[in-house]
Amino acid sequence: MSNVDVIIVGGGIGGLSTAFALARLGLKVQVLEQAPEFGEVGAGLQLAPNCTRILDDYGLLDKAKSLGVVPERMVMRDAIDGSELTSLDLRDLERTYGYPYMVIHRSDLHGLFLEACRTAGVELLTHQRVTAYAHAEGNATVVTEDGTTWVAPLVIAADGLHSVARKLLVDDEPVSSSYVAYRGTVPIPELTRPVDLSEVVVYVGPRCHFVHYGLRGGDLLNQVAVFESPKALAGLEDWGTPDELDTAFAATCDDVRAGMPHMWRDKWWRMFDRDPISTWVQGRIALLGDAAHPPLQYMAQGAIMAIEDGWVLAEHLKRLRAGDGAPDWDGALAAYEAVRPEHCRRVVLTARAWGELWHLGGRAREQRNLLLRHRAIDDYSFTDWVYGPTALFPEDEPPMFEPIPLATADLIVSNS
Ligand code: FAD
Repeated sequence: MSNVDVIIVGGGIGGLSTAFALARLGLKVQVLEQAPEFGEVGAGLQLAPNCTRILDDYGLLDKAKSLGVVPERMVMRDAIDGSELTSLDLRDLERTYGYPYMVIHRSDLHGLFLEACRTAGVELLTHQRVTAYAHAEGNATVVTEDGTTWVAPLVIAADGLHSVARKLLVDDEPVSSSYVAYRGTVPIPELTRPVDLSEVVVYVGPRCHFVHYGLRGGDLLNQVAVFESPKALAGLEDWGTPDELDTAFAATCDDVRAGMPHMWRDKWWRMFDRDPISTWVQGRIALLGDAAHPPLQYMAQGAIMAIEDGWVLAEHLKRLRAGDGAPDWDGALAAYEAVRPEHCRRVVLTARAWGELWHLGGRAREQRNLLLRHRAIDDYSFTDWVYGPTALFPEDEPPMFEPIPLATADLIVSNS
């Protein structure tokens, strides 16, 4: 009989952060990762106050800040003419929410959690691809590719967008957005144009956008270029290729086009999400992170939601422990499932709407720009429901921001 309390399938940011959250409760946690090594592919991650609040609770915030950058402003610009549309003062945002908005290299955040897991005694196993799940009385089992069966009172599937465990709960497929992301990091001395590293900048344009911000204390510039692929819309298999990148950004402003030669051209990320589901738990098997709620990345909340999931589950396990310390697995899973799916449903759907807003062209783009230029920069009504404290109970979930229809833009502007 195994003496493991929790098996976590998947050692991404969701799996490792949850492993740490549970190990610090004194639980014996085992992580099964399919890859030969623990690691993250990609470049930067933006971490909003709803994440840095949790990092602080974990005692990891100061280290994260030392590895990343705490910018002063987030600026949205029009990708065609380069003009500023709106901004967030991130120092004021930190005063408002009590925790900073920061940016960090994914591998640095992942490495931070990996180290924390090692220190906390998590058993970290690689080359373990899980192919099947099953229920038993009072526990759950997983089977790995080599036929080994692993058992624990709780199994958490943090196995990403193509989750095997999700099939237990729903017969769905990832939804293609027909958008693709290119990434690239550039050492600052190699830049051919000046960039203000105190800013996170997003340029929004017709069917495309471009993001850049500093990483690693300002040694690197992180760039993300996202566009709608005509080949994807035409149903072609070979979509999102570098020739499409160049065409998509050909009409953008000088600053955006200056970033293109620095994008990695040998790898790109086709962007998928999934329709939200409200059931994440079956018996003692629970979905977490992208396995449960993969978003389009426009709200920069995907990794954050995964970190929040683990924190919420751990808080309920802590709260519901019996006098002898025995975990109330079923109670904690019920409390987790009562609060997280609804929050993540809102984020996934808002991210889709956000993408539509960013990528408008023609008249709608002008209306959007008018609205954004008239937004008060100290108006936090559209971030309160996301950046405030992570809710532990459904009644603590703040009301969601309702966007103003674009058609009212002219009216607002003409009356102001
Ligand atoms: P994953 O990172 O996918 O990890 C899953 C892990 O499970 C992997 O290690 C995988 O190898 C392993 N695995 C899979 N199947 C098995 C199996 N059968 N057996 C064993 N192991 C398995 N989020 C933010 O919060 N902020 C941002 O700024 C941000 N920017 C983004 C920019 C882009 C361009 C993209 C594409 C995403 C962005 N995201 C951002 C989203 C974020 O990257 C993801 O939501 C997050 O990494 C999901 O983490 P996860 O641990 O749930 O899943």
